[in-house]
Formats: sequence, structure tokens, C-alpha cells
Amino acid sequence: MAEHWGAAVVSVGDVLRAEIAAGTELGREAAREMEHGRLVPDRVAIASVESWLDAHREAFVFDGFPRTVGQAEALDEVLVRRRSPLTAVLWLELPVALIEERVSRRVVCQSCGRSFQVGLHVASREDACPVCGGVLTVRSDDNSAMLTNRMEQYRAHTQPVMDFYEAKGMLRKIEASGTPDEVFTQIEAATGINSAQETVGR
Ligand SMILES: [Zn+2]
Repeated sequence: MAEHWGAAVVSVGDVLRAEIAAGTELGREAAREMEHGRLVPDRVAIASVESWLDAHREAFVFDGFPRTVGQAEALDEVLVRRRSPLTAVLWLELPVALIEERVSRRVVCQSCGRSFQVGLHVASREDACPVCGGVLTVRSDDNSAMLTNRMEQYRAHTQPVMDFYEAKGMLRKIEASGTPDEVFTQIEAATGINSAQETVGR
């Protein structure tokens, strides 16, 4: 998506991990919550997003954010203040069994932070990062107890976010169990933004 649209894809998880690595006050707060498999407080997530926005001026796609109605409302305020409203909210739907399977196969590079699927991008967990050659590790929150915990938090906090954006007429549901190309085709159709437009623009 980023390459097709010239937009930055922002994972709030990555933004928070960067705060943690930099040892900021926000990072220390986030680390305490993430160690226990809890969602970080809205205030911490929003402050991290705002600090990312301060440093970037390009179009952006938030990945996995907002996760609560509180975050969605706060994000609205931030974006209105910056006069950069959202174009669309994409909801990628995936059966729980598939989520568990993907999570169980996920490894993350210690050096560049990119994640990969064992059996898809790399042959085994012992492989080097295909992008930078760094060491691959399993994220400490990628186990089934943590996943169950996250699914409970999801039902409690994230489902209402879907209702929030649906009421605004902004929600676009995407069936995410297909191949990356199939998912991307749906996203283009749902947002009205496609790579052909970009080609014409050039
Ligand atoms: Zn890497």
C-alpha cells in the first residue's frame, strides 16, 4: 500500500517500540503495559502518534490504530487540528484460527523491526532477516496466552471502534484471508484510490 500510494504505513506498535528503544517517558510507560500483554493507555498511544505526525508530513496509513473509541475520538481531534482528516477506515477481517496461525509463524527482525512469516518469507526461525541480514526473534507477546488476552481486549475495546466509524460512514470492510494481491485489490476498490491514478499522476 505504501509503495502504491506513496504513503507512510505507520504501525503504532512500531512507533511505541521506537519510544521504548529511545528510553523516553512514553516508552517506559508503554513497555510496562506491553510486558503484561495489555493495551497501552490511550493517552500514551495518542501522544506517540502525535509525536510521529510532528516528524512526518506525507500521507499516512495507520496500522492497528485506533484500538479504542477513546483513541478514535482523540485521533479525530488531532487530525481536525492538523486539517488532515482521514480518507477511509479499513477493517481487515480474519478468522481467529487464521490469526493464531499467522501469529504462531511470525518472527521479527531485531535490527530493522520488520516482521516475517516462517514458511512464507523465510524458511525457518534460524534464518537471517531477508531485508537487512539481522537476527530474527519471536516477539515476547506472541504466545497463545497473550493472544487469548489480546482477543478479550479486542472484543471489549475494539469492536466499539468499528461501530464508531460505521456510524460516520467511513468504515470499509476487507476480507483479509486472501493473498496480499487479493486484499490490495479490495482495498483499492473500497477507498477509490488505485495505482492507475498514481501512474497517470506521473
Ligand atoms: Zn532486518
